[in-house]
Amino acid sequence: MQEYIFFNGDFIEADKAVLPVRTHAFLYGTSVFEGIRAYYNNGQMYVFRMREHYERLLRSAKIILMDSPYTVDEYCKQTIELLKKNNYKQDVYIRPTIYTSSDKISPGLNGTKTGYLLFTTPFGDYYDPSRGLDLCISSWRRTSDNAIPPRAKIAGAYANAALINTDAHNCGFDDAIVLSETGQVTEGSAMNMMFVKGGKLITTNITDDILVGVTRNTVIELAKELGIEVVERAVDRSELYIMDEIFVCGTGAQITHVASIDRRPIADGKIGELTSKIQKLYFNVVKGNNEKYIKWCEKVYD
Ligand code: PMP
Repeated sequence: MQEYIFFNGDFIEADKAVLPVRTHAFLYGTSVFEGIRAYYNNGQMYVFRMREHYERLLRSAKIILMDSPYTVDEYCKQTIELLKKNNYKQDVYIRPTIYTSSDKISPGLNGTKTGYLLFTTPFGDYYDPSRGLDLCISSWRRTSDNAIPPRAKIAGAYANAALINTDAHNCGFDDAIVLSETGQVTEGSAMNMMFVKGGKLITTNITDDILVGVTRNTVIELAKELGIEVVERAVDRSELYIMDEIFVCGTGAQITHVASIDRRPIADGKIGELTSKIQKLYFNVVKGNNEKYIKWCEKVYD
């Protein structure tokens, strides 16, 4: 089936889209993007927390001084229309990108114009949710807020994630956790980190050089719903090895437990009790099965 995309104002067939070779975003990584999931369940498709993702897209654009061509409402409307056009009957990943379209040979953004691309693609699990992840601590550092702010989802910053993820794979790990320039835990290559210690859920601060994940926020809300105390605080590397449970969370990563870090098993390496509870609730919520959280699930089909 030919897939449609939304490209600079038109719904067109994906293979008809062309970008000039001198596109600023291609040469300098000057684009901002989002990753959104839609879950297909019982004949309906639910886009999870779409509005929050587009709100973050606008914040990313603002940080890097790029103009957004549309409003959040317009982005949401285009997304639903595109998903309808592609008529999927399976889980889907949605990738909107605002990019610097000018052909200027200089990284500066003054006087540049922005373009917009939205594509969707069938998408299964990013990690195998039945198996725990073997992670390492990356020898790379997360870019700091004063270098390329991780708070903004800037395409060029993902060269950092590429180094972290690729080197972890090349060393036989599933992925890596990355420390800040000051040596504290930030997040994974493309996911946030959650820890359980003494029955409390711990996660790093929003000021600890992380992308402030939509899933992170979802997990915090769901944990509170389950009566679990949530603590946001700085986390040391050595604390990781002695946590009771650890899991990663993100739109792509969903909720996946961590079996080991730097070859040290986390508890017995199996999924922990709180992780399991949160994971179950999460999958119910994202699939539109939980009435209380249906406000987070935008329906695609009439
Ligand atoms: N951190 C990074 C660096 C990411 O790329 C992602 C994936 N978007 C996340 C965290 C998780 O964010 P979210 O839950 O909004 O997908």
